[in-house]
Amino acid sequence: MTSPQTEDLNPYHIAQHQCEHAARYLPELNDGLVYYLKRADRTITIEFPIQTQDGKVSNFRGYRVIHNRARGPGKGGLRYHPDVTVDEVRALASWMTWKCAVLNVPFGGAKGGVVCDPKQLPKVDVEKITRRYIADLGNSIGPHQDIPAPDVNTNAETMAWIYDTYDNMHKGQNNLGVVTGKPVNIGGSYGRQQATARGLLFATQKALARGVVRGLSSVEGATVVIQGYGNAGYNAAWLFAEAGARILAVSDSQGGVFDADGIDPAKALEHKRATGSVTDLEGARNLTNEELLALPCDILIPAALENQIRADNAANVQARFVAEAANGPTTPAADRILFGRDIPVLPDILANAGGVTVSYYEWVQNNENEQWEESEVNEKLHKKMLRATDAVIDKQEEINESLDALEDRRAENGRAGDPLEPVDLRTSAFVLAVERVAEVTLERGIWP
Ligand code: NAD
Repeated sequence: MTSPQTEDLNPYHIAQHQCEHAARYLPELNDGLVYYLKRADRTITIEFPIQTQDGKVSNFRGYRVIHNRARGPGKGGLRYHPDVTVDEVRALASWMTWKCAVLNVPFGGAKGGVVCDPKQLPKVDVEKITRRYIADLGNSIGPHQDIPAPDVNTNAETMAWIYDTYDNMHKGQNNLGVVTGKPVNIGGSYGRQQATARGLLFATQKALARGVVRGLSSVEGATVVIQGYGNAGYNAAWLFAEAGARILAVSDSQGGVFDADGIDPAKALEHKRATGSVTDLEGARNLTNEELLALPCDILIPAALENQIRADNAANVQARFVAEAANGPTTPAADRILFGRDIPVLPDILANAGGVTVSYYEWVQNNENEQWEESEVNEKLHKKMLRATDAVIDKQEEINESLDALEDRRAENGRAGDPLEPVDLRTSAFVLAVERVAEVTLERGIWP
């Protein structure tokens, strides 16, 4: 995974590599346990037809993957995209396991995906796909089993259809906890819509205050570039601007726009709603996504898809700090390049964990038939994001100060190999997560 020609961009291979790499810094971990933790527990593939609005019968393929449930029921979003693959869903499911462990949220990791392009389909067909996919999953999902949430191209409305379908199939019980990210008047939580971006802001503020980026101690006055303008990207633009940052550029799948004086997030959203894209925004100049990733700025926020910062373009990044709203936007080879260039990356399994954290709060409210004030949700999120950010930075310091001792322990356990190098924040977050999931797995006992 080193040169652009040979870099393996399979997200599942990348997720497995990240787990294996972290395990090198946990010398007492049993090799068999590492092998178990890097693989997905269960993969469900569903093939189904729907009768589309135009009267045809169209066929679709969907997946639901449970990576690990040692720490609680499966939890993870549902993605609709033409490029969905089973390995992408497996990777996203495993990142959910590690994310919930970093945040100490009592869930395991899961993810779903349907190969489809909702932008090309009438809404009624997207609703049929959703209802049929959920009906076919049957009892594989459930409030204490596996709990979906929004991801790329799904939203609160999709979650309402999921709830309604499941509830109709399981009458006479409280089913609200089967899915999170629901509309607020159907058991959704205040603050869930903005939670991913709000968590990203809290984690970024904490990391900057802790001196992770030399000479940049605050979001206030910082310049920010954002790739992707959906739930994560738009809300990040809005919240970072509210915190005093200047949004230099934003983009979506059609391309991006740049304005040195700063883009007004609400205007860009209005323009995207009216025209289908942020491109051609009045007063800004168009640029490509590749150009956007190479803009000089303080904070670069990838908020679209995987594999955006790779071996072939990481050297072009001119940001001082990368905060990952998307899952898997930076490849392992790019991680090494950025680390070598002293550009810290706040990793996805910490940076975008605000979404699953407030999903957890939604689930708790559903199970207790409560609705909390938004201020209460945001306060809880703030505390949790700060604690997790501290834990990841502390773990990085702890590892980098004890490399010799770790080498000795590796030798004692017969696990010596390539010398241990100082770790970046992604590796420290993975070490923390793998350690926590392994500990619970062993505490529960490997049965039978
Ligand atoms: P979304 O569907 O709301 O938005 C996705 C955005 O990315 C759209 O603006 C789309 O045009 C843009 N995009 C797609 N392909 C692109 C490309 N090649 N280049 C540039 N932009 C492109 O999805 P979302 O919920 O905002 O999710 C975005 C990322 O954040 C995903 O990686 C997702 O897994 C992650 N994430 C989302 C949540 C959440 O709560 N929604 C939580 C954690 C992580």
